[in-house]
Amino acid sequence: MSAQLQENIGKAEGYLARFKENTLGHYINGEWTLGSGETFDNTSPVDQSYLGKVAAASEADVNAACEAAAAAAAGWAATPGAERRKILHRLGDELEKRAEEIAMVESMDCGQALRFMRQAAVRGAANFRFFADQAPEARNGLSLHQAEHTNFTVRNPLGPVAVITPWNTPFMLSTWKIAPALAAGCTVVHKPAELSPLTASILAECADAAGLPKGVWNMVNGFGTVAGKALTQHPAIKAVALVGDSATGKLIQAQTAQTLKRLHLELGGKNPVIVFDDADFDRALDAVVFMIYSLNGQRCTSSSRLLVQSGIKDKFLAALKQRVANIKVGHPLDPATEVGPLVHTGHYEKVTGYFDIAKQDGATVAVGGKSLRDEMGPGNYVTPTLFVEAKNSMRIAQEEIFGPVLTAIEFDTEEDAVRLANDTIYGLAGYIWTSNTGCAMRMADKVEAGMLWVNSENNRNLPSPFGGVKMSGIGRDGGDWSFDFYMETKNVCIAHDTHKVPVLGR
Ligand code: NAD
Repeated sequence: MSAQLQENIGKAEGYLARFKENTLGHYINGEWTLGSGETFDNTSPVDQSYLGKVAAASEADVNAACEAAAAAAAGWAATPGAERRKILHRLGDELEKRAEEIAMVESMDCGQALRFMRQAAVRGAANFRFFADQAPEARNGLSLHQAEHTNFTVRNPLGPVAVITPWNTPFMLSTWKIAPALAAGCTVVHKPAELSPLTASILAECADAAGLPKGVWNMVNGFGTVAGKALTQHPAIKAVALVGDSATGKLIQAQTAQTLKRLHLELGGKNPVIVFDDADFDRALDAVVFMIYSLNGQRCTSSSRLLVQSGIKDKFLAALKQRVANIKVGHPLDPATEVGPLVHTGHYEKVTGYFDIAKQDGATVAVGGKSLRDEMGPGNYVTPTLFVEAKNSMRIAQEEIFGPVLTAIEFDTEEDAVRLANDTIYGLAGYIWTSNTGCAMRMADKVEAGMLWVNSENNRNLPSPFGGVKMSGIGRDGGDWSFDFYMETKNVCIAHDTHKVPVLGR
């Protein structure tokens, strides 16, 4: 074990001690409470060690959080945007102060390598600062003229909203959803994923330290089937922003039907990276490797299907095999680690299950395809894996594996590439590598996805829209799209007192 890893483990143990010693509760109306539900154990994917007990919110706990958010809604909506801006910048400061703690706790709770999590707090703070700066203008609308009337639009915050987040990069995703909601003037009930609850509590502590009024930010821990369900059905909640699985999106659509809530669903993907013969070989190779093996492949925008053109297929796959075989799997707190353990044993079993499915379906395991538990102990370690000789109809090309597992498929023509790219129930993201601008433009037009990157890995731009089509979701956020989601547009029509009012019954 390197000295650096030893030092990091020591520091992480310090940060995690309080979670081991005290049951992690809910943050409701500015107070920490254990609520009235049961508790469950949280374990680390690194070695299955005990990380502490977590309270699972009951329906009554969720109701209390929703009522607190409802009671705080009018006051927060009336708080001037400039004041909300100040508070949210303070929240950004708090996150930055605790950057090391957030990174280490997230790594140990989720198995994500520290090299990626180091930026978590900084990116989270950037989310708050970006939306904070727009809070003063968020209500602005349009002026729409007619001959004898003038219409103007104004946006008002929706009120209390639910934010439900998944276990992959939970900290960053939570900030991404909650920051615009608060900047817009909504109050929030956040339910983090049961598999990775720790950093959401640090976020709530930072909100408290930044001086958010009581009830503006509430957080309930617990399970989707109880806490998540109650939250999505509560009549006070006006909208639900979910990041999660497509199956969960369907459930939430059904659960919210009776109370007619606005939904933003960011769901699964089986994103293609399409590499044409004329692509910049080295840059495409770097990006292909990065976009599936970073963040343990537990990333909604990961490019889990490689479509590679026949002219460069052999050379590209040979180079790719070498790179995949070289990826360093290890303890997430080791600075050298590129791939850490998968988040949970259940997920580890799902991912390793695809190693057999690939062979049964007739694909070839070019690299990996193994559990590393024999070599690395009880953690959820698997080898970075590359399947070749695959067909797009195979399960490994159709289903979201959500691990460091890439399926490579050959194509001949641009038309083939479009057909294969779109032959999926999903439509979140796609990546196109070509030096032919016309080809890039035609692909950008035809590939069914909410987001496409040309000659780039995933590059996040906060003002740009984020979201998917087909089973990858409904709606967009990012920039002003977030305000459109969290705010209601009202039209006010004012007469110039010149038009003839229709007369009845005179
Ligand atoms: P999940 O859908 O199992 O859980 C997500 C959240 O929903 C959790 O907090 C869970 O408790 C809650 N939930 C589950 N059932 C619920 C219900 N009936 N009512 C209300 N809430 C419920 O997802 P996961 O396994 O935690 O995360 C991985 C999934 O998230 C993958 O499919 C991934 O692609 C997707 N994801 C999508 C994006 C995106 O932007 N499109 C980003 C990250 C992750």
